[in-house]
Order: sequence, then structure tokens, then C-alpha cells
Amino acid sequence: MSPLFILSLAWQLLKTHLGRPVPIFCEYEITYRCNLNCSFCSQQRFAHEWEPELSCEQAKAIISQLYSAGTRLMNMSGGEPSLRPDFIEIAQHARNLGIFISLNTNGYLIDEAMAQKMTAFHMVRVSIDGNGQLHDRLRRHPGSFARAVSAIKLLKKNGVRVMINSVITNSHSHQDLREIAELARSLDVQVSFSAAEASASAARTQTRDFIDGLLADGRMHPATAALLIRSLHSEFSESVVNDSIYIETLEKSDANPGRCRVLDTSIALKPDGSFAFPCNDFPIFPMRSSDCEALFNSVEVKRIRADLGTYWFCERCTSRCSVYPNKLAQPFGIISLARSWAKVLFS
Ligand code: SF4
Ligand code: SF4
Repeated sequence: MSPLFILSLAWQLLKTHLGRPVPIFCEYEITYRCNLNCSFCSQQRFAHEWEPELSCEQAKAIISQLYSAGTRLMNMSGGEPSLRPDFIEIAQHARNLGIFISLNTNGYLIDEAMAQKMTAFHMVRVSIDGNGQLHDRLRRHPGSFARAVSAIKLLKKNGVRVMINSVITNSHSHQDLREIAELARSLDVQVSFSAAEASASAARTQTRDFIDGLLADGRMHPATAALLIRSLHSEFSESVVNDSIYIETLEKSDANPGRCRVLDTSIALKPDGSFAFPCNDFPIFPMRSSDCEALFNSVEVKRIRADLGTYWFCERCTSRCSVYPNKLAQPFGIISLARSWAKVLFS
């Protein structure tokens, strides 16, 4: 992170704190197609709802607009982004503009040639949900664990900052999670755990029954997941990088989350070029615009912003996508975020 980038980010944050919402963080779900079929995921089931996907040039044009509107942090996810042959080119475009760009991937397609080009990303998170067979069972694809581990080694070898992302479901025992932390230690990478969410960011039509049914079998109570993460953090403090911001959000999952400020600092971009409001996980109001800044400050979005936290799906929201944008909108939240990012980026 260059001093220029930090100044530019600080300027956008200042604008937000002076009362003008800025889409500083963008979650860009670049495709919903996927080569795996994880038991806790339903994204690819709804891939057709967001077709056709943006072309490479269209994606770059929207990212340029987002940069002009104040976006300085972007996470590319899916689906599996590496299924798009242009995902690195799009990331490089964001990076050249001055955006900190990270990636979530299952790692399956990453070979030596691809790993060499992935220096376009400031950070890559490879998903691993168990040590060996458990991962392959949850991902419903034999060999996916070996490919994910190989991807981590290749990325490290090519100088890409890489870490493990691990989703906790009710299939996991404490020992399963310890084995993931031990794997991270042996690979000399960090690991971040998150609880499986009752969300389906690819589904346009969402009802309470749909969401309840979606992860009825897979979701562990967030407070239990928090307990496990705390225990792992104390045993593997150098490898497990979960911060108290996320753990406390899981612990308070049964309490009313209060006012949500996700739309003060973040925006969600879907594969077809729609911006999804109110938030990435619940794209109830998709909108298109050739002027992101005007859209973000439009009457329609202001109305949605005023209603945040009151939608039925906001009850017990523990979405990681919302925790950090909410913190960005709070003066003391920025300090705790900076501390937590420093641990990931500079340790
Ligand atoms: S969790 Fe990721 S890798 Fe697994 S099916 Fe869903 S999009 Fe694909
Ligand atoms: S509380 Fe959660 S579900 Fe509701 S708008 Fe905010 S991020 Fe979305």
C-alpha cells in the first residue's frame, strides 16, 4: 500500500464522515458460474438470473466509473472468478487505477501459468473447508482439496499474497477446524474463518422461507461459530487472523443489529452490470446506471438507505460483507479496521 493510496482512501473516508456517502468498497461478483458444487452454496443455481455477464471492456468501464465515484477497495468473487478468461485483465485494470483488489477463489484452476499472472491481485483468498476428505465432501468434488493446496503453494512461489478462507458449517467439529489452522501453519499462510450465512446473493427473488430453507442443514449458530473461532485464535494466534470486529458480530447475532450503514460506504456489482441494493447478499433492488456516483446519491438509493436495518432479512444479519463497510462508516470503527488489516497485510 503506497502512501498515495492511503491518502486517497483517507480522503474518501473523510467525505463519508462529512455526510456524503461514497462507495469506497465494492464487492464485484464477476460470474455466478462455478466448477464446484459446494453443499452450503446455491450460487450457480441462479447464475442465469444475472446473464449475460459484462464483457471485459464493459467491466473495465464500470470499474473506471466506480473509481471516479470513490471506490478504493474491491473484492472480486462469484461463482468462481477464474472461469472467466479475462478475470486477471479486469483486476489489473482496477489495480492500475489505484484500487486495492482482492480475490476469492476455490483455486481449482490455478496452475503455474495462471499463478504467475495473479500478481495483479493485492490479495488472494483460497477456500479450504477441511483437511482432505472433508473439503472434497463439502465441495462435492474429489481432488478439489489437493488443487486448492497446490494453488496456495503456486501463488506463494510467485510472490502473490495468499491466505485461506474457511467457511464453518454444522458439519465441522472443533478438531476439523484445528486441522485447517494446522494446515495454514504448515503452509505458512494465514487463515480467516467465517460462519456459513443464510444468504444467496445470486438469487433475485428471496423470501423468508427461501432463506430459512437454504441453509437449514448447513448453518451453525453464529454464537457457536464465534466460540470456536475464539478458541482457534488463542491456540493459533499467528495463523488465525479473525478480528474481534467479526467475532463480536457473530456473538451478538440474536440482538437487533440496529442501524445498518452498509450503503454509506459500499456497493455491490453483479455479473450483468447491475448494482444491487440494499446489499450484496440481498439484491432486492437491482439498478443500472452509467453514472455510479449519481446513482449512489439518487433519491431511490437515499430512500433504501433510510430503510436499512428494517427489512425482514436484516434480522440477525452477520454478513461479513456488511460488517466491514459498517465499521468504515464509524470513526472508531476505522481504527479497529486499520489494526485488523495491518495484521493481515504486514505480518
Ligand atoms: S462456495 Fe464458491 S466454489 Fe463452492 S459452489 Fe459456491 S461459488 Fe462455487
Ligand atoms: S443489515 Fe445486513 S441484510 Fe440488512 S441491509 Fe444491512 S447488510 Fe443487508
